[in-house]
Amino acid sequence: MTPMLDCAIVGAGPGGLTAAVYLSRFRRSIAVFDAGNSRARWIPESHNCPGFPSGIGGDAFLARMAAQARAFGARIESGEVAAIERDSDAGNGGFALTFSGRRVDARCVVLATGCDDVMPRIEGLEQAVASAALRFCPVCDAFEAVDRDIAVHGPLESAARHALFLRTYSDRVSIVPGGDGVWSDLPQSRRLNEAGIAVTGVPSAMRFDGQRCSFTIDGRNHAFDVVYAMLGSRQRSELALPLGAACDDEGALRVDSHMRTSVPGLYAIGDVVSALNQIAVATGHAAVAATAVHNALPPRYARSGSARQQPSIRGGESRCNGH
Ligand SMILES: Cc1cc2nc3c(=O)[nH]c(=O)nc-3n(C[C@H](O)[C@H](O)[C@H](O)COP(=O)(O)OP(=O)(O)OC[C@H]3O[C@@H](n4cnc5c(N)ncnc54)[C@H](O)[C@@H]3O)c2cc1C
Repeated sequence: MTPMLDCAIVGAGPGGLTAAVYLSRFRRSIAVFDAGNSRARWIPESHNCPGFPSGIGGDAFLARMAAQARAFGARIESGEVAAIERDSDAGNGGFALTFSGRRVDARCVVLATGCDDVMPRIEGLEQAVASAALRFCPVCDAFEAVDRDIAVHGPLESAARHALFLRTYSDRVSIVPGGDGVWSDLPQSRRLNEAGIAVTGVPSAMRFDGQRCSFTIDGRNHAFDVVYAMLGSRQRSELALPLGAACDDEGALRVDSHMRTSVPGLYAIGDVVSALNQIAVATGHAAVAATAVHNALPPRYARSGSARQQPSIRGGESRCNGH
């Protein structure tokens, strides 16, 4: 039988991988289980990631984080965790995870499962995101849309908030409705008028021509340099809900200041939590959660001669051995 882990981490996005780095460096027995669908994989190039002044793509960022976690001994396994249950056999308040058809026991679990964006119906979706014509997060990349012709596509209330935010970056911001909401009911309608933000008719189709996204509205084509799709998101909290974890109306998990959910031993970090969906937030959550997990577990006192070799990561420019 596989020995019980100190902590199982579900999800190898920025949150889960940072938790893996911290817990490995706390000399805990851990493993990361990952279905391989991090939101960060969609990032063409991020310019607000601390430490990357020239920007970095999502795949490259994840690869560096995984290399750092592995360098300190973290095991990252590919596959889906289908369920998490209380481990009644062990009688110690731990958890039993069902992972790729086998059982994994862990004293604590860190859920770093992220969320899914509601995607617009458009052919060439991946190319549109890769070319930054279609985006999902003004906080992430509005700075790269300065002076562009911008559309915000989504339910009016949410689109209005994001359009007003984007007005700092361009004087050509429109709302293209995509969901519910009546223009005259909007509490922000006066502010939108003052800011010169127009609301178009409801589009019948959306397309990507290889450079720009456009909408068919009342039979005419309206193209924009940048479209922000703000159609909502769904937190991947389904593993926690059967355990009784508290969540908000959107399914985002509620946590305390140590990233503890309402279920003892179950922690949650990153986009699955009710918070700003950002890499820096996910990694900050991870540092807090990993330290809380370590402090909550029984101590592991060192025996002389148990030191590991210090790692050196050479993929890219990064090194982790103090140089
Ligand atoms: C187009 C785009 C651009 C973005 N640009 C930026 C940016 O410039 N700056 C920024 O800060 N943020 C950006 N973001 C947001 C950023 O990607 C997320 O905030 C970040 O990835 C959240 O990290 P996370 O670890 O919480 O979740 P994720 O990165 O989504 O990782 C969650 C992981 O958990 C796995 N998982 C889920 N359920 C299971 C399960 N049952 N079993 C096993 N594994 C599971 C998933 O497959 C996934 O690999 C962008 C997002 C998008 C979509």
